[in-house]
Amino acid sequence: MQKKIPMRQCLGCREMKPKRELIRAVRSPEGEISLDFKGKKPGRGAYVCPNADCLKKAIRSKALERALASAIPEDIYDALRGQMEGGNG
Ligand SMILES: [Zn+2]
Repeated sequence: MQKKIPMRQCLGCREMKPKRELIRAVRSPEGEISLDFKGKKPGRGAYVCPNADCLKKAIRSKALERALASAIPEDIYDALRGQMEGGNG
């Protein structure tokens, strides 16, 4: 029996990737945007590859805003940039 890997679409390159390889941004039921590294926060999620190019595309196309139906605070983008530039573990 093969285990099914959950796949999600990156908002930058639009490729389907295993969920665990993507960074998840989540909008809580209260409307707060945060990054979710464990994939367990409740709320609406959006995914992007841990890759600066994909992040740039997602920012430029406002795909994150659209996916979460909310404005994204600048500090969230900063945190994402930090993740991608600082190397991901
Ligand atoms: Zn991507």
